[in-house]
Amino acid sequence: MTDPLRVTPEVQKITRELRHEIHQNPEIGTDLPATQASVLKSINGLESLEVSTGTRQSSIVAVLRSPRSNPDAPVILLRADMDALPVEEKVEIGYASRIQGLMHACGHDVHTAGLVGAAHLLHANRRELKCDVVFMFQPAEEEYVGAKWMIEDGVLRSAGRPISAAFGVHVFSGTLEPRTWYIRPGTVMAGCDEVRIVIRGIGAMVPSHIKPLTQYLWLVKSDWASTPSLQENSDLLNQL
Ligand SMILES: [Zn+2]
Repeated sequence: MTDPLRVTPEVQKITRELRHEIHQNPEIGTDLPATQASVLKSINGLESLEVSTGTRQSSIVAVLRSPRSNPDAPVILLRADMDALPVEEKVEIGYASRIQGLMHACGHDVHTAGLVGAAHLLHANRRELKCDVVFMFQPAEEEYVGAKWMIEDGVLRSAGRPISAAFGVHVFSGTLEPRTWYIRPGTVMAGCDEVRIVIRGIGAMVPSHIKPLTQYLWLVKSDWASTPSLQENSDLLNQL
């Protein structure tokens, strides 16, 4: 019996051509009109997909409902990021970036094309699915807001029921074994939270004053402050 999710030559062709097209036309941030158009074109023939696009960024949400699905069936979300980086591409390849100063240096072109490939494979096998699938094409991963805005705009409710599980992938070349998947529950790779600490002093007369510099020194010397930038500051302060 052949594997229904085996990548067919047709899907391979669609995926490779899309990846090259996106790689040649990198866009950054929330506004990715060319990338969005390429993705929409590549899923155009999948008539069972319910496709919607973002109103404040170039996001795409496509819902695939299985004929075997029911109101209690799980909803699986598959996500890909689509944005490039402000990096100059300096390699001689046929599909190199045509946009000066921008390139897909992080592999999001691979993620996007791969998710389109998954949409084609799952659409072709939708009668076998026991769940509904949400395909989430996300802009602005590098600027942190892309997923946040899509969640605010309802991607987690796009199938009409809560998402049961969400999966994202990231290519990682050079340091890991080729053709190997590394997987774990929960989060993987860097997060994008930021911590902002404001230290305020009160007055200037001993003993009622609170010196902000003392608080700052305590903070950078504490175990908590082990980040390189804070450690750098600590080293500088030690030299004063
Ligand atoms: Zn990335």
